[in-house]
Amino acid sequence: MSNNHTFGIMQFLNIEYIKKAVNDHTLNRTVRLRHKAKLKILSKDNYRCVVCKTTEFLTIDHIKRVRDIKKERNSNAINSRWKLPLEYYQVLCVSCHQEKNRIEGQ
Ligand SMILES: [Zn+2]
Repeated sequence: MSNNHTFGIMQFLNIEYIKKAVNDHTLNRTVRLRHKAKLKILSKDNYRCVVCKTTEFLTIDHIKRVRDIKKERNSNAINSRWKLPLEYYQVLCVSCHQEKNRIEGQ
């Protein structure tokens, strides 16, 4: 699987697919819960990039890296990238996301 945090072509979200997938019981539960988490985040940010407000080519950005959150909370209990409180995520379009990664030197 591709990882959004590596360099290369960043994949954007297929929102129509995600909306269907949350109710697709042929998918396993973990996958459905991950899609559900993505929809919650999209909804929190009104399905727009928080920087440039576009509604196209959206991605979800982990505002902080999971390893930094673990350090902050001094906890190894956080195992999933998709089980953090909503404020740890934001919606970014592909170009704003790439720009953020570039600035952060990722
Ligand atoms: Zn943007």
